[in-house]
Amino acid sequence: MAVERTFSMIKPDATKRNLTGAITKMLEDAGLRVVASRRVWMSRREAEGFYAVHKERPFFGELVESMSSGPTVVQVLEGENAIAKNREVMGATNPANADEGTIRKVHALSIGENSVHGSDAPETAAQEIAYWFSQTQVVG
Ligand code: ADP
Ligand code: MG
Repeated sequence: MAVERTFSMIKPDATKRNLTGAITKMLEDAGLRVVASRRVWMSRREAEGFYAVHKERPFFGELVESMSSGPTVVQVLEGENAIAKNREVMGATNPANADEGTIRKVHALSIGENSVHGSDAPETAAQEIAYWFSQTQVVG
């Protein structure tokens, strides 16, 4: 295994419920280290750009609406196997299918309001980190 970096986001449904600390603790308890973090209220345009891969999906409008409905916390996480480990601690996209003890099982409200985002592969992790952070803002 290698030390990797991945991109994580605490979504508006979670920041509205004051869960930034609770979710970050679950990430840290899983062995991930926060090496960059900033609070962002994204515009519709930023949300559309970030989620461009989903633009043909039927839920795209709802997704952009919800991601720009309040503050998010964008983070870079570092650790052994960080990309897969973050996906594991996040749980399944639909909280109804998420394993016990995962962030989405514990905190998510629905498939649309599922509290966290995490990169799914090394290429998307690099792109997503660069979308929100300059190199000097990531301090490992
Ligand atoms: P993940 O966030 O687990 O990587 P996807 O990349 O498939 O999941 O989808 C991106 C986001 O789009 C999801 O986290 C969720 O907020 C939203 N989404 C996915 N599927 C649906 C759906 N069927 N209805 C509403 N929102 C959805
Ligand atoms: Mg995804």
